Amino acid sequence: MEPVLLWLRRDLRIGDNPALAAAIKTGRPIIPVFIRPKPDEIGGASAWWRGASLAALREQLRKRGSDLLLRTGEPLTILAGLAAETGAVAVHFNRTLEPDAIKTDIAVLAAMPKHGAIALDHPANRLHEPWRLKTGTGGSFKVFTPFWRRLAEAYRPPIALPAPRKLRAPRAWPESETIEDWQVTTGWSQGFAADWQPGEAGAEVRLAQLLETVDSYDKTRDRPDWEGTSRLSPHLAWGEISVHEIWRRLQERHGEAALPFLRQLGWRDFNSHLLYHFPKLPKEAWSAKFRGFPFLPHGKGLKAWQRGRTGYPIVDAGMRQLWATGWMHNRVRLIAASFLIKDQMIDWRRGEAWFWDTLVDADLAQNAGNWQWVAGSGADAAPYFRIFNPITQSRKFDPDGAYIRRWVPELAKLDAKAIHAPWEAAPLDLAAAGVVLGKDYPQPILEHDEARKRALAAYETVR
Ligand code: FAD
Repeated sequence: MEPVLLWLRRDLRIGDNPALAAAIKTGRPIIPVFIRPKPDEIGGASAWWRGASLAALREQLRKRGSDLLLRTGEPLTILAGLAAETGAVAVHFNRTLEPDAIKTDIAVLAAMPKHGAIALDHPANRLHEPWRLKTGTGGSFKVFTPFWRRLAEAYRPPIALPAPRKLRAPRAWPESETIEDWQVTTGWSQGFAADWQPGEAGAEVRLAQLLETVDSYDKTRDRPDWEGTSRLSPHLAWGEISVHEIWRRLQERHGEAALPFLRQLGWRDFNSHLLYHFPKLPKEAWSAKFRGFPFLPHGKGLKAWQRGRTGYPIVDAGMRQLWATGWMHNRVRLIAASFLIKDQMIDWRRGEAWFWDTLVDADLAQNAGNWQWVAGSGADAAPYFRIFNPITQSRKFDPDGAYIRRWVPELAKLDAKAIHAPWEAAPLDLAAAGVVLGKDYPQPILEHDEARKRALAAYETVR
């Protein structure tokens, strides 16, 4: 019997996967294929994750009598070639909502029938498709709270699609590139494996932990010194876990108590919807008046920020956590982003690009939406005059300095009072902690109060 193609992208799972379920329903042999685009625009940390995640997926598929085909190139050309080679009668895939992917999807949907295979797309990775969730007047939402209210009201998780025990394989497998060639195991990302288990099984472990802790999420989520968040973000970014599955399991066990966490999934949908309605979100300020903001040329300040050497311990701790693990706590992302955009007045797109390259959870909509939120240029963004004070934020959210001590070990011996702003510490205390500022740890690259005034004056010119 002629097979069907299952085109996988950011849905690297076999449980609760609508495209896979639809392919199974045909009763035909299934050929799962992952196509690496050329040029490949994902960042370095994501490339590491993708390689490991595909290896995990291939193992799961093989356990079920199937396999995973890897190809590099332009999706339509590859899918059409595979249809010709295998006689496939259909290609099933889950939609992604990113501007380039949408163009590709449209081309695949339109052209595949000419190559003898119908193409069918399915919703999989968001709670709601953007065209389904409208304001009372039929427009798209620009403010999160009413968006969330409407979403929570309208959303009912779809019926679960359990992972199949067996998958029907084709008589012959087309040629595949090897996963080993794709896997990035050298360089800086090598250390990530200590913190992460890419793939569906790793996502399940994180969900199981969350099920035990979600009642206290609202109290712990802002503390970078605690394990207070789910760390599901890279698993969600690669679709290794279904967002519906998370919702179902949390609601079933915790009911209303899970809402503060589920609200975060709402932010994820909100940013995706914004990107869908404003495809320039990663490149251009959502709010037109911010497009002329007088950013300063980036120089040494950008490098100091990237390397975690700004002299502001909480910012440096976050940037070093990012470099070492591919992830940074959300509260510290906010502080570090605010420091780049507002204190240093460096264009938010520079920060966005760095995060894109270094985050294992890098996601076009979430990254752009959050950078614009901090810049004050996004939809429902932070007010421009809210400029995080990195010292008071540090004292509030890392009160004992444990997070700083972990990521900035040269300050580890400073006490909780001195560690947030070492330049204010008494020389004797610095000496006792073995810290010479400017030698062991940098002097602050700027003075926050002055920088704040400069940023406010600049914002006045565009507001
Ligand atoms: P939890 O607190 O456990 O939240 C659960 C899930 O909700 C997350 O996994 C994520 O999918 C979603 N979520 C939580 N907070 C947000 C948020 N503010 N916006 C959108 N979704 C959210 N998140 C990404 O997934 N990819 C990115 O590229 C990304 N870039 C960011 C850039 C900046 C400047 C900032 C301030 C935030 C960014 N975030 C991004 C959002 C947030 O920091 C991460 O989703 C969160 O830290 C992931 O950790 P977690 O899974 O433990 O989160």
